[in-house]
Amino acid sequence: MPGPTESRERRILCTSCNAPMSIAAEAKSVSCPTCHQRVVTEAVVVKGYVAVRRYPVANRISITKKGIVYAAVRADDLDIDGVLQGEAVVLGTLHLKKHARVTGPVRASYLRVDKGASLVGPVRIGPEAIEELDALLPADMQPAESDVGDA
Ligand SMILES: [Zn+2]
Repeated sequence: MPGPTESRERRILCTSCNAPMSIAAEAKSVSCPTCHQRVVTEAVVVKGYVAVRRYPVANRISITKKGIVYAAVRADDLDIDGVLQGEAVVLGTLHLKKHARVTGPVRASYLRVDKGASLVGPVRIGPEAIEELDALLPADMQPAESDVGDA
């Protein structure tokens, strides 16, 4: 059943400046109104070799069994069944599948590891490890600009 609004929106963070924004759920990429950088917002499946400095996606990245990624990866959720060498920042869940071979510092709100996966590097897990998420809190949960006043 369709919702009350015509197009679904979702909240994301700019992968360059961490500014929060609302985008159409089906958008493939957007331009950040704050820093004007392009933000990839469609889910990505990596099936081959990728070597770049940064690989940021404001959505899910899946590195399949044949995927080999040398990059600093940032994703909303990250599934790995292949190779990742480099930093990983995952706002949601990092899922290391059976064939995952990950080397590098990793931060994620949640971690799921299947038997057989390997992960070598410093690891920080928990929503508090992802300070970027603070920007996604609803406005009324943000720290007030000025707390002084009517106590
Ligand atoms: Zn930005």
